[in-house]
Amino acid sequence: MISGQIVNKKATHRKFSSRRKKLVDQIRKKGIKDQRVLKAIQETPRHIFVDTALENRAYEDSALPIGSGQTISQPYTVAAQTELLEVEKGDKILEIGTGSGYQSAILCHMGADVYSVERHEALYHKAREILQELGYRPRLKYGDGTLGWSAYSPYDGIVVTAGAPVVPEELIQQLNIGGVLIVPVGDQEVQTMTRIRRVSEDEYEEEQLKQFKFVPLIGEKGWE
Ligand code: SAH
Repeated sequence: MISGQIVNKKATHRKFSSRRKKLVDQIRKKGIKDQRVLKAIQETPRHIFVDTALENRAYEDSALPIGSGQTISQPYTVAAQTELLEVEKGDKILEIGTGSGYQSAILCHMGADVYSVERHEALYHKAREILQELGYRPRLKYGDGTLGWSAYSPYDGIVVTAGAPVVPEELIQQLNIGGVLIVPVGDQEVQTMTRIRRVSEDEYEEEQLKQFKFVPLIGEKGWE
């Protein structure tokens, strides 16, 4: 059922190409410079990750509902987080909050080895199906991402796509030396994008960047 819809949507890939170009121009104007990130957004069919009813809005620079009370992040936000990750081909990246699967697709497109955790079972299944259909092969897990995914650690980059009350300690521990954790931290209204780099076995550098608004990170080391 879903597969049939994806096939139809694939046919519309080219139709949306000029809208994607406009979106990329907008994101560039908002300050995203990494050409590899802009290229991934240009080449990734965001409309496939939203309901057919919202397809026409898929290339607006805004978050959209994806069910289970969650949203696909605003494209600018995806671009900003991806740029901060400094992804190189072959990097092992962990994402917390698979949601629609769009951020995972962008990371796969950039050649990363992607791991992603989602706490809503319905979203996990749907994202898995869409990503497979598009030919991406991230490793997905249904569970609480505030604890990371220790089985595959350490990671070169970890990106949290939901707003955390504090930086989850487990995520810091699952970073490679030289690796970065990108996590929005704050209350449920507004969060400050935070970048933590593991500079040695037990040393970290922390930077506070721009403010954003994400859906809450819910779990053992997140909100209740
Ligand atoms: N990266 C997603 C953004 C989805 S919104 C995309 O590109 O579409 C954030 C997602 O984080 C939601 O799907 C929400 O269910 C999920 N989430 C919240 N807390 C979580 C947790 N503790 N573990 C895993 N996923 C979580």
